[in-house]
Amino acid sequence: MCIFCKIVKKEIPNNTVAENDDFLAFHDLYPKAPIHILIIPKVHVDCFQDASPEIMAGLSTFAQEVATKVGVDQTGYRFLTNNGEDGGQEVEHLHFHMLGGGKIA
Ligand code: 5GP
Ligand code: ZN
Repeated sequence: MCIFCKIVKKEIPNNTVAENDDFLAFHDLYPKAPIHILIIPKVHVDCFQDASPEIMAGLSTFAQEVATKVGVDQTGYRFLTNNGEDGGQEVEHLHFHMLGGGKIA
């Protein structure tokens, strides 16, 4: 089982920001910005390339809610995913990074 599936199952502790039946948002263990949140589907999907339109639709709405909850919806944020080896993806469970809380370099 992958590390993010273990986080979903609460086998590994995480600092949860928000969750619903299908998605989880939690603080990155090694933040690269004042606010660095990872947003994942609870179901295992390897990467963006494999993500269905349904997952992406739900994830988008959830991410917008997370941005509002942590107060970056007006100030702005960077929202990105690394896809596959050349994209620099280290954890093989679809995740989007939400970076904010200051100008992102
Ligand atoms: P990637 O390079 O795959 O796009 O990003 C993986 C991210 O997961 C990295 O920013 C890394 O800091 C974060 N990360 C790796 N392991 C853990 C963990 O066990 N808990 C949390 N909260 N973040 C993790
Ligand atoms: Zn997984």
